[in-house]
Amino acid sequence: MTAALPIIAFYDKRTLQHSPEIEQNFLPGRLERRVKQILAKLDYKWDYPEHPGRLTAIKEHLDSHLIPRVQFRTGAKASRTQLARVHTSRYLDTIFDLGGKMAWLDEDTTAISPKSVEAAKVAAGTAIAAVESVLRGEAASAFAIVRPPGHHAEPTRARGFCLFNNVAVAATHAQSKLGCDRVLIVDWDAHHGNGTQEIFWADPSVLFFDVHRAAPFYPGSGDLEETGAGLGEGYTVNVPLPAGTGDRAIVKAFEEILVPAAKAFHPDLVLVSAGFDWHRNDLAGNVTDNGFAMLTAIVQQVADQHCSGRLAFVLEGGYDMDSLSEGVHAVLRTLAGQAPAPLIECGIPEVEEAIEFHQDAFLEDDGGE
Ligand SMILES: [Zn+2]
Repeated sequence: MTAALPIIAFYDKRTLQHSPEIEQNFLPGRLERRVKQILAKLDYKWDYPEHPGRLTAIKEHLDSHLIPRVQFRTGAKASRTQLARVHTSRYLDTIFDLGGKMAWLDEDTTAISPKSVEAAKVAAGTAIAAVESVLRGEAASAFAIVRPPGHHAEPTRARGFCLFNNVAVAATHAQSKLGCDRVLIVDWDAHHGNGTQEIFWADPSVLFFDVHRAAPFYPGSGDLEETGAGLGEGYTVNVPLPAGTGDRAIVKAFEEILVPAAKAFHPDLVLVSAGFDWHRNDLAGNVTDNGFAMLTAIVQQVADQHCSGRLAFVLEGGYDMDSLSEGVHAVLRTLAGQAPAPLIECGIPEVEEAIEFHQDAFLEDDGGE
């Protein structure tokens, strides 16, 4: 029985040390010149969007809206061996050598500050800690509230604000050290998890399911036809969706694609790359807090049905501080047992309020005769 176990939220202040600031001097070179040209063309002042305030906003919101059963714990630093399960040795050498420096890593504006490499090791290690807490029976489920995010990081390339692929590092650790054979990774960030897809592209031991805004939205991958290769054929499931997609469509994708896929796959562990940029206040999606709660309830049911509830979340994107904080809260309170409300079409409550407001305005006035 897992009912009495806590839900553990992992939060480690060392991840706040990753903080590239645009005014500082970056390592000179061709990439630096290229990024400078890109930023110079913008007609607004650009700040690094994936900043420490994302995590402090979440923590402050959770501290001021406490959820019974949710406990906090600090994370851990990933070892080179753990990172090397998904990244090449040469890539790790390159990234580790950049410790202590300011550098651009990709022309998509991915950058590091002097302590970013340490922060990224903690982000990946904390994703591992979350999985360990679940598989060792210390937590009913867990959430690694970490940054930099991970799902865009490829075996040899940092991109999309990601250095190490945290969820992939956690999945391979569960397989190597914690007795899991088959891992289901659900990626509900608004961007396609290109890095996670690439790492497990030909691997039938990991089922990768991703709902994302369709190309040409960043990073441009995740077509329906991208289904894996070789022995991994059929183990990558992409659901590309249009801008404006809301609760009902994503819940339908989960119920009618994810649920049967999970039933066929029969995972030993369910991991979620949880981004909150599908939120209606963020990047052109239309998902609500209750929508995230509903998605949480579905993955919880999948985990309950196939692997004794073994479920861990790893934070990815989300750039509106309020909806990011409230989205994480919605996930945690659902894991703690609070059922989501029924889905309501966007705008219907407001129309009902307006009906109430206006209902007397156009009545025939027969009082004067
Ligand atoms: Zn994203």
